[in-house]
Amino acid sequence: MIRQGVLVYESIMADLSKPCYPDLTFRMPADFAWPHGAACGVTLAWHVDGEAGPMASDRRAADHVAAISEAAYGVTTAMPRILALHRELEIPGTFFVPAHVAERHPDMIEAILKDGHEIAHHGYMHENVFAMEASEQRAVFEHASAILERMTGRAPRGWSAPAWGVSGPTLEVMAQIGMVYDASLMEYDRPHIIETVHGSLVELPISMVLDDWALFGSSIYWGGHVALQPAETAGTIWREEFEGMRRYGGLFQTTFHPNLMGRPGRLVMLEQLLTHMRGCSDVWWGTCEQAAALVPGSNPGAPFRRQP
Ligand SMILES: [Zn+2]
Repeated sequence: MIRQGVLVYESIMADLSKPCYPDLTFRMPADFAWPHGAACGVTLAWHVDGEAGPMASDRRAADHVAAISEAAYGVTTAMPRILALHRELEIPGTFFVPAHVAERHPDMIEAILKDGHEIAHHGYMHENVFAMEASEQRAVFEHASAILERMTGRAPRGWSAPAWGVSGPTLEVMAQIGMVYDASLMEYDRPHIIETVHGSLVELPISMVLDDWALFGSSIYWGGHVALQPAETAGTIWREEFEGMRRYGGLFQTTFHPNLMGRPGRLVMLEQLLTHMRGCSDVWWGTCEQAAALVPGSNPGAPFRRQP
């Protein structure tokens, strides 16, 4: 009986020993360090899903006026307040915007750029690309990149996965078209390199701990589920994580959604949290693009390459 148990255990171990991602290599540069001896890095990243959120998997949501209004709140009501908060605390930001949302709200794109923030790739209609063929993924990446390039004057350098859908081919496509960084994976908590068969990317790791969806996520279109936690709970969790990142030298990278985090009570909490964080002198702050450029071996100048 014991022997049988050992055999089962050994077979499980054997399965685990196989490479999970045979075409990907993760490399942590030994000489990575935050500039000026900083204890950790902070990238304040926003997923401006807007109307593309509810429409991502069901275009009929376009006719659901309440669902669209909930999503649009993040753009029309919350974003001006969020940008004001960034200005007030002098914090650089990265805004991952589905290209469809950019097209619907050119004034928002202009306001983000005017304040010197980064606009990054978040699909065209917030597509979850996980189940797509590589060619289909590439078409989505190129289509959305071209729109953002036209609107902002430069191609987006990085992407964060809508619904955290990432497959091996996703990262290969990104490297192939010359993107610099991904911000979707969770195995490590410091910036590092991913080698793919088509070139390398910088990975800027995210965490569900710093994703406001985990605490405040809701979708009235999909059946009325609403998760509600006091803003104070989020503030406590994120402050703990910030102190942990200072202790271990990691990247405190948020995934905030303007329609969730931009509610007035939560913004007041966020202002208090960020004011505390800004008061710590041992922290590096930057956009995701700037964080990626800190990684030895990164390729920050890589131009966007369209399919020949
Ligand atoms: Zn999103």
